[in-house]
Amino acid sequence: MNTPLISLSGISRIYAAGDETVAALQAVSLDIHAGEMVAIIGTSGSGKSTLMNILGCLDKPSTGSYRVAGREVSSLDGGELAELRREHFGFIFQRYHLLPELSAIANVEMPAIYAGMSKSSRRARAEALLGRLGMRERASHRPGQLSGGQQQRVSIARALMNGAEVILADEPTGALDTRSGEDVLAILDELNADGHTVIIVTHDAGVASRASRVIEIADGRVVADRSTRAGSARTGASAAPKARTQHGYSLISAANEALHMALVAMWSHKMRSALTMLGIIIGIMSVVSVVAIGRGSQQSILSDISQLGTNTLEVFAGHGFGDVNADAITTLTVGDAEALARQPYAAAVTPTDTLQQTVRYGATESSAFINGVGASYFAATARQLEEGRFFDRDSVSRRSQDVVIDSIAREALFPDRRESPLGKVIFVGDVPLRVIGVLKKGSSIMAPSGMLELYIPFTSVQTRFTGSQSLRSIMVQVDDAYPMAEAEAALKRFLIQRHGSEDFNIFNTDDIRQAITSTTNIMTLLVAVIAVISLVVGGIGVMNIMLVSVSERVSEIGVRMAVGARNNDILRQFLIEAAIVCLVGGLLGIGGALLLGLIFGVFVQGVSLIYSPASIVAAIACSSLIGIVFGFLPARNASKLDPVAALSGA
Ligand code: ADP
Ligand code: MG
Repeated sequence: MNTPLISLSGISRIYAAGDETVAALQAVSLDIHAGEMVAIIGTSGSGKSTLMNILGCLDKPSTGSYRVAGREVSSLDGGELAELRREHFGFIFQRYHLLPELSAIANVEMPAIYAGMSKSSRRARAEALLGRLGMRERASHRPGQLSGGQQQRVSIARALMNGAEVILADEPTGALDTRSGEDVLAILDELNADGHTVIIVTHDAGVASRASRVIEIADGRVVADRSTRAGSARTGASAAPKARTQHGYSLISAANEALHMALVAMWSHKMRSALTMLGIIIGIMSVVSVVAIGRGSQQSILSDISQLGTNTLEVFAGHGFGDVNADAITTLTVGDAEALARQPYAAAVTPTDTLQQTVRYGATESSAFINGVGASYFAATARQLEEGRFFDRDSVSRRSQDVVIDSIAREALFPDRRESPLGKVIFVGDVPLRVIGVLKKGSSIMAPSGMLELYIPFTSVQTRFTGSQSLRSIMVQVDDAYPMAEAEAALKRFLIQRHGSEDFNIFNTDDIRQAITSTTNIMTLLVAVIAVISLVVGGIGVMNIMLVSVSERVSEIGVRMAVGARNNDILRQFLIEAAIVCLVGGLLGIGGALLLGLIFGVFVQGVSLIYSPASIVAAIACSSLIGIVFGFLPARNASKLDPVAALSGA
């Protein structure tokens, strides 16, 4: 006699139920040959399902030996067991166990995905199987849209997908009305006639009468084993037509399938996915916007600073800003400016002198700062013109009566926008000045009081207003070749030598720039750290919800394992789901940050958010990484699930 397809000897299965143990199976020995149709009958709780799960390699016996086609099952590892389930067995359950979010045809295709069959041949085979079972028209329906009998046909098609040499049906008609039950049994009969070995569990004697062999179980023991239609067992019948499974199971196509499954799972639980993403969305949004706000405000402060001059040292008369006598100190002179201009580190020198006076145009009068400056002042302080021009060296040496006005002065003196101030003559005291340029709005931060600012050559201030050679300050632009600190020290030495004492103070814009840069950097870093913490909290949220989702989806995981998914397939599926959730959350977070920037731009003038591509790329990488890191624990839990427990809905 040839080797039996299935051979059990001395099989027992002991469950631990609290402190006691339950022997669901005891010393079961039986052989089943290829082509048989076996009915297993017995009362409820007699151990039928336990036996089926052991036969289908979903469960392992406590003792005894189980051989499939001569191979000892207890020596196989998880991957080999999955392969056995995938390639040799087809399960049909009482409760169908179809995945509700997949269409009928997608349910049928599932075992072939794990077998690595290509998409097109998979689809063709699933269509053919559904067609054969009279379900062609219902292929795209969801299980919820099908009757019990129809769902059971879908589950039969799924069992047949990978060939199913052995069909294991655990009470396949238990949930069906008599007619659909009859149909299902007729199908099983037909499959047996085609060469499939069919093992069917039932407690219905009518169902059992169709089988060629009936095995009766009571209290975990085989109590009867008889052939009802002697000789009709199609022993030696040709093995069931096997679906040729491609074993070029490439990683790319596997990842592709996993991605697809993850998207389906996400889409069918939109609310849950959205809530899972929320933490990541908020985290990424805050990281990206905080960095952008930091950079934006830094940029705007630095551009304000650049009006104080770039690479400039400004020497003021007096000991400091707070020196009340600064106006009375007359130690800084045009002579100093000329001497400084000859120093090697000075690229340009601009004397400045300021006084406050009333300015008049027509009937309009206003108080204004009259700034006497050199020709290089405008370039050094990065002023920009709305119209007209700045005055030049020639104007300075001619002591010309040209004036450049700021936008506040323009609004105050020339309120009519259609009238160009250029060429107009305004009066400061009784000195007439001709307007030659108008500064752009916001191009001066030196008049926070809203005071009008006029700029005329410092030579003109001295001859026409103050009559003295003393200056308020001297602005020295340092040659690029000299380090600022060195230039500052040299300038200080030079002036102390000239004046005999330190009756001045030096204002180094570079120091301020550095201070601001490092302060805003620290602030950004601080807030970014807080944002990163929120991202980690978001990741923990993802882990939490994924853990809940795994326990919600045990039956799905059980079904996938029953049709032959490896532990790794399950692990990969859940990891990819977590990564996709986080990636999509990250992208939404970036979108939210950009939107926030737009809203910010409408309400907050002066500071715009600056998004660096690097921070966006980092955000995307970071969110996917969070998905993988925080998704790992739930995914591993899912892959470690016991398929039997999962299927019984434990
Ligand atoms: P049947 O399918 O014939 O109704 P089962 O095989 O499901 O019976 O169960 C056989 C016996 O094993 C029953 O007494 C049942 O209570 C027990 N049993 C089944 N599964 C478990 C389990 N996971 N833990 C403990 N006892 C179990
Ligand atoms: Mg049962």
